[in-house]
Amino acid sequence: MLSAARGVLLDWDGCIAVNNRILPGAKQFITRNAERVAIVSNNSTHLPADLEEILAGHGVAFPPDRIFLAGVEALCSVAQSGVRRVMLCSVPRMRGFARSLGLRLVQENPEAVVLMRDAHFTYGKLERAANALRQGARLIVANTDRTHPGACNRVVPETGALLAALLACVGERAVEPCVIGKPCPMLFERACEGLAIAPGEAVMIGDNPETDGKGAAQLGIRPILIGGASRLSLLDLLEPVAA
Ligand SMILES: [Mg+2]
Repeated sequence: MLSAARGVLLDWDGCIAVNNRILPGAKQFITRNAERVAIVSNNSTHLPADLEEILAGHGVAFPPDRIFLAGVEALCSVAQSGVRRVMLCSVPRMRGFARSLGLRLVQENPEAVVLMRDAHFTYGKLERAANALRQGARLIVANTDRTHPGACNRVVPETGALLAALLACVGERAVEPCVIGKPCPMLFERACEGLAIAPGEAVMIGDNPETDGKGAAQLGIRPILIGGASRLSLLDLLEPVAA
């Protein structure tokens, strides 16, 4: 299945890296499949250039235009929709990127609330975001993951945990969030476009049966699960080097 695929969509956290430290086999796998790989991650704290730099630090040259990240895509999609006044819950790095897209970051009366991983999320932000939604602001969410795997078997709270808090305030049915990341289609579709292939020509390698597995399968992308119960890693997916 892997050798027949024209495109290989590759998850970042728990697959290429944990806590942005590259896992065994990732360097070889990416290098050997360089022309057909796109990185598809629910990451909402980094820019493609950041992951490019991490990979370069391990001797892997990878083009940033084939790195598709939920946070960046969320902000691009908001900017393209014509919205300008945004309440953004994110790390500072993403605020700078949002401004570079022409978005005006506000605390009150936003047209949209954009939620991503925010290590400085506060009660005050929760209160302002909840009331903005009650007043009709749209809600754009980088991903619905509640955690992602951290170092030493710990979990890192993710955007979905903040979303759960927000929905607890406004009511699950009061807003319909626009979700950018996996398992929703947008990131997968952007990656297939970037590789100039149809979803049916791609495989998705990831460690999360729900987001990577079911999300890909919904679009006709064949999933290959590694990590966790599968006990596989990218090392196991290395094909013999052609003679
Ligand atoms: Mg993962």
